[in-house]
Amino acid sequence: MSKILVSGGGVAGSMTAYWLARYGFDTVVVEKSPSLRTGGQPVDVQGGALTVLERMGALDAVRARHTDRRRMSMVDRYGQVLTANDEDPSSLEILIDELIQIEHDHGEQAGVRYRFGDSITTITQHPDHVEVGFEHAETERFDLVIGADGVHSEVRALSFGPEARFARYLGCYLAFFGLDNYLGLSHEGMACTDGIGAGVSVFTVHDQNALRSGLIFKAAEQLPRHLSIQQQKRFIADHVGDVGWEAANLLERLGTTDALYFDAMTQIQLASWSTGRVALVGDAAYCAAPTSGRGTSQALIGAYVLAGELATAATHSDAFANFQRILADYVADNQQFGRTQIGFLFAPPTQELSDTNAANLAQFNNDNPKEPNLKIYSSQRPITTR
Ligand SMILES: Cc1cc2nc3c(=O)[nH]c(=O)nc-3n(C[C@H](O)[C@H](O)[C@H](O)COP(=O)(O)OP(=O)(O)OC[C@H]3O[C@@H](n4cnc5c(N)ncnc54)[C@H](O)[C@@H]3O)c2cc1C
Repeated sequence: MSKILVSGGGVAGSMTAYWLARYGFDTVVVEKSPSLRTGGQPVDVQGGALTVLERMGALDAVRARHTDRRRMSMVDRYGQVLTANDEDPSSLEILIDELIQIEHDHGEQAGVRYRFGDSITTITQHPDHVEVGFEHAETERFDLVIGADGVHSEVRALSFGPEARFARYLGCYLAFFGLDNYLGLSHEGMACTDGIGAGVSVFTVHDQNALRSGLIFKAAEQLPRHLSIQQQKRFIADHVGDVGWEAANLLERLGTTDALYFDAMTQIQLASWSTGRVALVGDAAYCAAPTSGRGTSQALIGAYVLAGELATAATHSDAFANFQRILADYVADNQQFGRTQIGFLFAPPTQELSDTNAANLAQFNNDNPKEPNLKIYSSQRPITTR
């Protein structure tokens, strides 16, 4: 039986590992966090990604954790409602940490071995195996390594080259944090933009006592990556402080949080998602940026296809090539959508624009011609990688 290492126990890594284990591969996940993550952002799952969850037997569990947000409004700087839209029913929204927990539980049942609190430090390829060094464990041999370690992938840095070569900065930053529901919102979201280059939003997730807030703003220059949380908060305040509406109150609450997501809006583009016995999947390979709203779905679909091709193609090289061929157009389309949405986010809000955007989204979710057909892969075949 082939032994495969998956780096990253997020959406893509956990799903890849689940299917690999189900097809009979000896599958290890190394996740740098000391445990499964908590308190993450809501993400949308749509189209074929729902089929992947259904085939895994996890769709009911995911539906049960639906955030159940029903409408979204845009207000002006004085709180006057400008636009209001119902949430799109064709997309299923769930907190990312709850999705990962479900994937993880199914993976462990299928035989995936998780190792938390460690990270790959070296990858040395040989004709018939890969030697992998870790921060906290002995060097170990694997047949293949899958990098599912997100937009700032270490596997990509070690095997493909520095991030700057593949990252495309989209000219804005996104911050995200959780707070109490001090606005008394119920099953809804609200947002306010200055119509130029900054916006703030708040929305409920399934627990109506809590809110999540997203803060988005344009910035001509990219910052060094490892700023302190205080520097990040200052940078955010400098950019969204004048938006109006609840911006000042949100910044005050931001000041007391220690669980802040903050990153440049970036896409990842590589000519090839694999090299030798190492392949990338999810954001590590083809991040479409959070504005696309499709990062989770393409991570789930990519994971399913990659594992299925590894279980059925004649060689791992064929599997990697098939995986990229099957996903390429879909990913390119999602990335294009992610870039287009930036313009929409910062445009002065009108009901007409909101309706057009909602209609585009619904059409994409219901009938996306670029989304790959998801084969049912046989799980009966003896597993070897050549
Ligand atoms: C604020 C925000 C909002 C978003 N909203 C949406 C949305 O509405 N809809 C949508 O579809 N997508 C959304 N996305 C995008 C979506 O979250 C990602 O596209 C998706 O999670 C990609 O999954 P992934 O597994 O490839 O990467 P990640 O989810 O980033 O997972 C990577 C995993 O690898 C681990 N890791 C990192 N480095 C190492 C290392 N060196 N060694 C071991 N492990 C490592 C990380 O801890 C993490 O667990 C959003 C993203 C953000 C940040």
